[in-house]
Amino acid sequence: MDIEKNEIDLYKVFENFFTNDSIFIKNISKFEVLMKVLSSELSKYDFNIASDFVIGKSKIYSIEERFNFVKEFYKKHNINFDIDKLINDGIIEFYNEDGMNQYQDEIEKHSIYSPNMGGEQKFINDINLLFVPNTGYLFDSVVLCHEISHYRNQFKPINEISDLFTEVLAFVECDIMAKEILTNDEYEFYIKRQFYGFKSLSCNNHIFFEFATLFDKLGKINYENYCILYGEIDEELYKSKINSIFEINEFDIPTSSRYTIAGLLVPYMLNKYYEDNNYFETIEQLHDIINSSDVNTILTKIGFSIKNNNFFTRKNINILINNLHDFVNKNLEKGVVKWKLLKNYYLM
Ligand SMILES: [Zn+2]
Repeated sequence: MDIEKNEIDLYKVFENFFTNDSIFIKNISKFEVLMKVLSSELSKYDFNIASDFVIGKSKIYSIEERFNFVKEFYKKHNINFDIDKLINDGIIEFYNEDGMNQYQDEIEKHSIYSPNMGGEQKFINDINLLFVPNTGYLFDSVVLCHEISHYRNQFKPINEISDLFTEVLAFVECDIMAKEILTNDEYEFYIKRQFYGFKSLSCNNHIFFEFATLFDKLGKINYENYCILYGEIDEELYKSKINSIFEINEFDIPTSSRYTIAGLLVPYMLNKYYEDNNYFETIEQLHDIINSSDVNTILTKIGFSIKNNNFFTRKNINILINNLHDFVNKNLEKGVVKWKLLKNYYLM
């Protein structure tokens, strides 16, 4: 690849990117730090998802049974929300039109669970709809729980701050449910897959934010400026970083940033919940406040102390890192490299 052409193309991307007034533009270097923290900490693990889970061991449930798992979860945790109404109003859609299981072949072959585990909440003609998979496995219930969580706090017009935190709440809730209903093997597979996603998104995102910060601070994108801002690196590494941005198909920064924020906050919140189940009330209250509060109020509610309006203290970053490793080591037995206490090197 022609590195100079890439530098110029990237410059053009940022020229466009920086004309909008989003929360990302206003906080570009702060997001860069968050992406760096998550990507480098998760890079210490091999989430090894491909080969160690055979779906043949998992049970198949009817649609009604899978709905009931979500209803039971809501009842157990005193969430006052009418799932039957969602079903009756046709808000929940399966990916295929007739509601049949589109993955029948996979189930019959007892092959590895490879279908897309994700769902989607989106507005179509201003109607808030949920799209969920219909594989027959309990993972469907977990995805449904995740999507209903989005449904409860995403309204039109989209609020930028709520949009930034909705993924956090959706993952916390469905991860708690996953631990309650999945078998140990299924849960481990599920969490690995989730963290593998956080890892790859944050690595891609980090490179984008590194160069965006470079553009913002020094204007010209080139090797010399990169070294001025981030310290000496090998020129080949610089080139591979800039090339990798062009290998990612879209610059959907808001979407991948939501997931990296989740990757950072979810382990912390899950640990808090497992220490004290009353924390579930806080999670529920966050559904309301993410639509009416600023970022620091939300982070304070989650449990962080924020001094002088600044979340980015060494203490808070270390809390995030320690909780991330704690969570991974407590919940994943196999296939991850055990983390050792290392000196943290993020300078705030
Ligand atoms: Zn989501």
